[in-house]
Amino acid sequence: MVQRMSRLLLKTLRDAPADAETTSHKLLVRAGYVRRSSAGMWTWLPLGKRVLDNVARVVREEMDAIGGQEVLLPALLPQEAYEATGRAAEYGDLLFRLTDRKGTAYVLGPTHEEIFTQLVKDQVTSYKDLPVILYQVQTKYRDEARPRSGVLRGREFQMKDAYSFDTGEEGLAEAYRLHREAYRRIFQRLGLDFRIVSAVSGAMGGSASEEFLAPAAAGEDTFVDCPACDYAANTEAVTFTAAVPAAVDPGPVEELDTPDTPTIETLAAHLGVPAAATLKNLLVTVDGEITAVGVPGDREVDLGKLAEHLAPAAVALVTAEDFAARPDLVRGYVGPQGLRIPYLADPRVAPGTAWITGANKPGRHAADVVCGRDFQVDRYLDVVTVQGGDPCPRCGAGLTLGRAIEIGHIFQLGRKYTDTFEVDVLGRDGKPVRVTMGSYGIGISRAVAALAEQTADEHGLCWPREVAPADVHVVAAGKAAQTELAALAADALHAAGLRVLLDDRAGVSPGAKFADADLLGVPTILIAGRRATEGFVELKDRRTGEREELQLTEALKRLA
Ligand code: ATP
Ligand code: MG
Ligand code: MG
Ligand code: MG
Repeated sequence: MVQRMSRLLLKTLRDAPADAETTSHKLLVRAGYVRRSSAGMWTWLPLGKRVLDNVARVVREEMDAIGGQEVLLPALLPQEAYEATGRAAEYGDLLFRLTDRKGTAYVLGPTHEEIFTQLVKDQVTSYKDLPVILYQVQTKYRDEARPRSGVLRGREFQMKDAYSFDTGEEGLAEAYRLHREAYRRIFQRLGLDFRIVSAVSGAMGGSASEEFLAPAAAGEDTFVDCPACDYAANTEAVTFTAAVPAAVDPGPVEELDTPDTPTIETLAAHLGVPAAATLKNLLVTVDGEITAVGVPGDREVDLGKLAEHLAPAAVALVTAEDFAARPDLVRGYVGPQGLRIPYLADPRVAPGTAWITGANKPGRHAADVVCGRDFQVDRYLDVVTVQGGDPCPRCGAGLTLGRAIEIGHIFQLGRKYTDTFEVDVLGRDGKPVRVTMGSYGIGISRAVAALAEQTADEHGLCWPREVAPADVHVVAAGKAAQTELAALAADALHAAGLRVLLDDRAGVSPGAKFADADLLGVPTILIAGRRATEGFVELKDRRTGEREELQLTEALKRLA
């Protein structure tokens, strides 16, 4: 069917919403693709829904191609499952929680590792049933602290989440490789510019993980990229190979006159930085032992956020034993919501510039800290930022730094979830074997915004054909002959199998129609205008702006 704009639920706006900061937020709203329902909740209008569905279609095709089987699980899930793995606490306020009439606690699924693990425990009994890849395209819920940037960060959003199950490390590695390749194809087909970078696993747990990042100024992630080798990493995951100096002289301990927890103000005052400053490095010590050198939080952490991390009830440090075992690679500590905080083992960190002591007590160990409320001495070193030009940890070349949007994230989870739910299958040798697992996410709705960010220009949206809401946008400039020719063109294009949007609106000026065509961003615009009576139309390439006048029959040949 030709989509007639006279019948389309569409109201384009001249002005962007006042709170919109990013290109995608502004343009997707102005072009009538999405509409805010409430904070972080978005309605997909007809044109937006088409783009969203196109992204999901590509994802499904490539998931099916690696043997993925699509399922659909509920979004409303028993909280119990998330308590069993500890993620109810780890996610904390990020979880939407509710209670049914009997008093049973539920959560709205933020991601489904627990539930898929239970499904497989229930359905799979033998190694012969493995490997298996299951996926769904589903609405996810996260009560994000700062829902902003439109659909880039919603509190309700669409995710494709996939889960692989197998019996051994090799199977897991193979499933991971398959997903990695499928993701490359997906993002290539969508027309996204992307990088694959090393990442930290965060609340997901597990060992290896990589992110697919779409470089864009609106992105909330920062990554480093090496021009000389294939090293690329989210700055959260930058790990320098050199060990933290074994014996850092802690320097004189300066007792601050503070309550148990240094407040944001005392920290800022002590560091001589404004309270809103961004800290990039933190040395955590327990009993004078270096426990972790870290970037305290995800991405750049402002002092406000850091103060949260320092709340005694919330902070748990890695154990001294952990540190003793791998002084070069302590895996961070657990933050306010139990989130694992990545750290940066950075050889450039010089012995300290400041000490801050909280409720440090002699003989206290990190393990006590994890149980108890009192905690550690925190010692700040200089504010160290990974910067452009810093040496690549692999080859030493100067790193480049960029902002990006996380569009996908793949994890080798190993047995974290299958251990919790004790998922064993009958092995080849007749003995039970614990199942290994991977999980693989793509932000479907976020990918729409990422595409808008990367492809829009000063005139509006500018979709790659694969995701565009139509192939051709036919504009009838207004006069009777023009309207007639446009309708003829639209029908012919439709008959040729193209998806057609026809601007047949009466009472809208040609100028407004042309501006809307640019704003909506369909890749090809066909205009029945000046020379319609002679059977001539104008073809415009939305991206390049190139125009050409030609006979309709010629134009149809060109497009079909
Ligand atoms: P972010 O770092 O942006 O908060 P995340 O690391 O918490 O994302 P994952 O748990 O890895 O997200 O989820 C898989 C994918 O889901 C992400 O790569 C991203 O594309 C998408 N996603 C996550 N949170 C949101 C959100 N609030 N709105 C839209 N998409 C999201
Ligand atoms: Mg998140
Ligand atoms: Mg992330
Ligand atoms: Mg992630």
